[in-house]
Amino acid sequence: MQIVTLCLPNVKRKTETRPKKCLYCQGETFQRWGKVPKPVRDSRCRNVQVYRYRCCHCRRTFRYYPEGVDQADQTLRLRKLAAIYWVLGMSLRSVTLALAPFGVKLSHMTVWRDLQEQADRVGKQRHWQPVRVLGLDGAYPLVNGKKPPVLIAVDLGNGQPVAIGQVDESNPQAVKRWLEPLVKRLGVSVIVTDDLSSFRSVAPKLGLEHQVCQFHVRRWVGRTLHDLKQRVPQEWLWVLDEIKGLLTELPLEGSRRLFELWKQIPEPRSGRNGSPLSPLDQLRYLLLRLSGHWDSYRLFDWQKDVPWTNNGTEQAIGRMKMRARTVRGYKSWQGMHAALLLSGSGVAW
Ligand SMILES: [Zn+2]
Repeated sequence: MQIVTLCLPNVKRKTETRPKKCLYCQGETFQRWGKVPKPVRDSRCRNVQVYRYRCCHCRRTFRYYPEGVDQADQTLRLRKLAAIYWVLGMSLRSVTLALAPFGVKLSHMTVWRDLQEQADRVGKQRHWQPVRVLGLDGAYPLVNGKKPPVLIAVDLGNGQPVAIGQVDESNPQAVKRWLEPLVKRLGVSVIVTDDLSSFRSVAPKLGLEHQVCQFHVRRWVGRTLHDLKQRVPQEWLWVLDEIKGLLTELPLEGSRRLFELWKQIPEPRSGRNGSPLSPLDQLRYLLLRLSGHWDSYRLFDWQKDVPWTNNGTEQAIGRMKMRARTVRGYKSWQGMHAALLLSGSGVAW
């Protein structure tokens, strides 16, 4: 379990500051125009004082709320507390029960509306914040008894999720359709993904640089090497060792070296007419593949803000799943969307 620091917003009973700009005309001078008590729902206070001001320029009046309070009955602190309970896996009804000891009565529908509103707000903020390095990963969350494939996009600059789509990550057309507007809107330059061919084909089409998660590469290459070790002729075992060394070091000239190794191994005699590839042919194929993909393995080496794994994306998905684990899945698509945005945002922690 990840350790998180709980930080609830402050709620002040009255404000010590004055408004800086008029809500309507950007005027900067005001007259105080009376005060009104505002009953609030909060874990600590019941009432706050709201001042009214009149703009000296456009003469309209408006309410100026103290910290942690806005038009809503529930303070920001209470809304955040409810969101945390919910993200951690409480049902809407349990959230209302958990707030009762604070003397707060909320219906479960109010909690649900608050969550949706907060998720929408987070979503809109993310919508236009530029993202340079975007992590992508697929998942199969339990939603309403089904497990639809989804694709999750995370800003790897700050670890926050930015979007979730009902997209199968192994389908390049679907990935491109979903990713293209997102990339344009956020100004993405680099994607970080697993070693899937769909991302490999989409990245150049969208003008993106591509870093492949090195955990995944090492895992599948490690498995392949382990398997080949039992089967390739003894005299070629040194090639396997050299591949392993290259992947550990990821040197700049790795691609060329792998290509040279490929040339040294004799051409296949099998693999034509549908006969299965011999172990040695499989080794040749591996060398060619790694050589061709080399640049996408070591982008992080010269671009400092590109991580060498897709860990940040996996963590965001893990936080989203935290709720799903305790409630055995999501009841709706909106619920999952809210959980993703709230669990990875300043709203929930
Ligand atoms: Zn004004």
